[in-house]
Amino acid sequence: MRIAIDGPAAAGKTTLAKRLAEELGFLFVPTGAMYRAVAWAVAHGIDWKRANLEVRDGGKIFLDGRDITDELTNPEIDELSSRVAVDSEVRRHLVALQREIARGRDVVMEGRDIGTVVLPDAEVKIFLWATPEERARRRFRERGGDYERILEAIKRRDERDSTRADSPLRPAEDAVVIDTTGKSPDEVFRMVLLLVEERCGKDRR
Ligand code: C5P
Repeated sequence: MRIAIDGPAAAGKTTLAKRLAEELGFLFVPTGAMYRAVAWAVAHGIDWKRANLEVRDGGKIFLDGRDITDELTNPEIDELSSRVAVDSEVRRHLVALQREIARGRDVVMEGRDIGTVVLPDAEVKIFLWATPEERARRRFRERGGDYERILEAIKRRDERDSTRADSPLRPAEDAVVIDTTGKSPDEVFRMVLLLVEERCGKDRR
């Protein structure tokens, strides 16, 4: 079974997808982290096309055998990843890798284009949304920094993600859209788990 979770930056996709994967015993695939890994490679002068990019247990990201997960969450990589994600060559490369990872497996995959492009036949599709202000507050609580600058960066990434020509951010026609503004991660998790059980019966596969 494949569960696709899409939505804009800081909507809570990673928190939800990771918990869901743990609960169901599925593989967790954070595709945003894969775009971040390409950005990291570019920033370090590494040829991303030749580099060996792996998603290991718990969504850990390895590049050429090195765990770079902790180096992928900072404002520079936030910005650079949304820039490299506009490049169709990068997208083709990563979409192929993402489909390969999901082949024959139970996965919870999160990103921007999972329900629309990567796994259009996923059994469950969720589109998580929250106002930019709410998302900026969450990121501020998580990482600290300057609230106004965080809000500005989120709006800039929203704009770039939604207006790019290749695979823009939008809900799939058959996605369930959840506005998480004012909802706790726990509430959202329970809503989605219920949905998975409704769609797939008790054995969840
Ligand atoms: O989700 P996250 O913020 O980690 O994603 C980083 C960037 O990667 C996003 O700003 C977006 O531009 C890009 N991305 C994408 N398609 C995906 C996942 C992420 O374009 N499936």
